[in-house]
Amino acid sequence: MKIVIATNNKNKFQEIGEMLPASIELVTLNDIGCNEDIPETADTLEGNAALKTIHVLENYGFDCFADDTGLEVDALDGAPGVYAARYAGENVTYDDNVNKMLLEMEGKEDRSAQFRTVISLKIDGMEYFFEGICRGEITTDKHGEGGFGYDPIFKPEGYDITFSEMSSEEKAKISHRGIAVRELVDFLEEYTDAT
Ligand code: IMP
Repeated sequence: MKIVIATNNKNKFQEIGEMLPASIELVTLNDIGCNEDIPETADTLEGNAALKTIHVLENYGFDCFADDTGLEVDALDGAPGVYAARYAGENVTYDDNVNKMLLEMEGKEDRSAQFRTVISLKIDGMEYFFEGICRGEITTDKHGEGGFGYDPIFKPEGYDITFSEMSSEEKAKISHRGIAVRELVDFLEEYTDAT
């Protein structure tokens, strides 16, 4: 089965690609000729994920899925949440966002946080949502070189290392995106068996 993944983020494409069974072939936005930026203007993860799949379906006619992830920090009342990519402003680097987070969290005792991923799947005229949550805490310093985004400062519950210090396979086993993608894969496997 071929399915379009509505993202241009290479890290995500790689992480998700590694989790899919060989029976599901990922098609990129480039492959379908979609090179424009897809607006992510909703104020919820569900809304943003759906904006991406609607764009692909309406403009290119392909069934597809898209994910949107937020970082919800308890001591910051759930911020940056859906605005995680733009936490330090427009057109900033991952490192800018990480530095801002470390600054905002300076001196905070409660460092608990969670990543939440929502996947929107549009298939045969229907829409389905899948969710994955990974709880953990924001560290006081950066640790590790791997991964992307807030990985150097996010230590998942039950671990003494950050996401950046894990291999991508190790991260996928427990991560928000890993959980959501496994739900998607289970659904697609049953769906393709039934149709
Ligand atoms: P997106 O909307 O799913 O692209 O994610 C928004 C932002 O959340 C990204 O720009 C990253 O900064 C951050 N993010 C998403 N997934 C992860 C992850 O697995 N680890 C660390 N940061 C992430």
